[in-house]
Amino acid sequence: MKAFRLLAWQRPPELMDVEVPEPGPGQVLVRVGGAGACHSDLHLMEWPEGRVPFQVPFTLGHENAGRVEKLGPGATGFAPGDPVAVYGPWGCGACGACIRGMENVCENWRRRPFRGGGLGADGGMAEYLLVPATRYLVPLGGLDPVQAAPLTDAGLTPYHAVRASAPALRPGGLAVVIGAGGLGQMAVQILAATTGVRIAAVDVSEERVRVAKAMGAEHTVVTGPDARAQVRELNGGRGADVVFDFVGADSTLQLAAGLARPLGRLVLVGAGEGTIPFGFSAVPQECELVVSSWGTLPELAEVIALAERGILHAQVTTFPLERAADAYDALRRGALTGRAVVVPDGG
Ligand code: NAD
Ligand code: ZN
Ligand code: ZN
Repeated sequence: MKAFRLLAWQRPPELMDVEVPEPGPGQVLVRVGGAGACHSDLHLMEWPEGRVPFQVPFTLGHENAGRVEKLGPGATGFAPGDPVAVYGPWGCGACGACIRGMENVCENWRRRPFRGGGLGADGGMAEYLLVPATRYLVPLGGLDPVQAAPLTDAGLTPYHAVRASAPALRPGGLAVVIGAGGLGQMAVQILAATTGVRIAAVDVSEERVRVAKAMGAEHTVVTGPDARAQVRELNGGRGADVVFDFVGADSTLQLAAGLARPLGRLVLVGAGEGTIPFGFSAVPQECELVVSSWGTLPELAEVIALAERGILHAQVTTFPLERAADAYDALRRGALTGRAVVVPDGG
């Protein structure tokens, strides 16, 4: 089968032929319906060897949905043809985080050669994806796998970030979403659907803030020298209750720290590797700072339930597998409205 693979660090991935994997005991083979292109893959392509503990080569694509193709010996609970979303973070199963059901923050991930399919293990930018256990599958109900693929990361990650911030997200309060791309657009929808907060979306792109407005952001700000003052003004100069940074550059973290109010919360999701000082006078008093990582399996089921009810949906642009490189180019150039999804059997 064809697969879009990272063969070496800091080299463009390539489309090549690989063997179709055979599911072993407990494993399941999924025929990929859609594999989303995440900005984290762009970081992955740029990072030098050793930045993450994964061994190359591996097939990209950690945001996957499709249909069950074949169950390995002893694998139960699903039948061939079932439409499924694939839960992405595959933890060690034994650390404190994993036994609490939070494989998204597995304490051993840096000691393991993969974090999930597409992140060290072979991912979904191929015709088939080998999943280690059926418990990583969530039934899709009536959802189309192409539309559902982004739910597993672009949907799940902001959902987890929002749910963990629930105590600070009171009706009438103000939440700020910095970076209204694949994840940020879903964050706006999730905030609008599950909290009573007012939402301000901030992006460098006018097109993106327009999309965020259509998805439920009451206020939009195009990044510029006045962004901080403009957003603070929305809450009578007091700043925001929760600021979500879906970029994570120095500049966006500085903006986020300048926007959060005392007793507020700054949630970093973007992997831009920026930093801000942390000190007594450097952040608002009693403001929580959190790095948020992906989401849990039950949260993925909840994200899918929101999508099944028509409350949450990703703006999808499809690309055939042969054009996976173009999907990432479009993401890199900021040319997408929402998420690029690679569709192995068409697009
Ligand atoms: P994306 O490219 O679809 O969206 C990024 C958005 O940020 C774009 O709309 C872009 O215009 C905007 N942007 C860029 N620079 C900006 C700036 N200085 N100020 C304001 N807006 C700016 O990316 P994505 O797939 O949504 O991913 C977003 C980030 O989240 C990436 O860094 C990715 O690696 C990270 N990520 C983290 C997790 C996690 O578990 N923490 C999971 C998935 C993705
Ligand atoms: Zn991702
Ligand atoms: Zn673990």
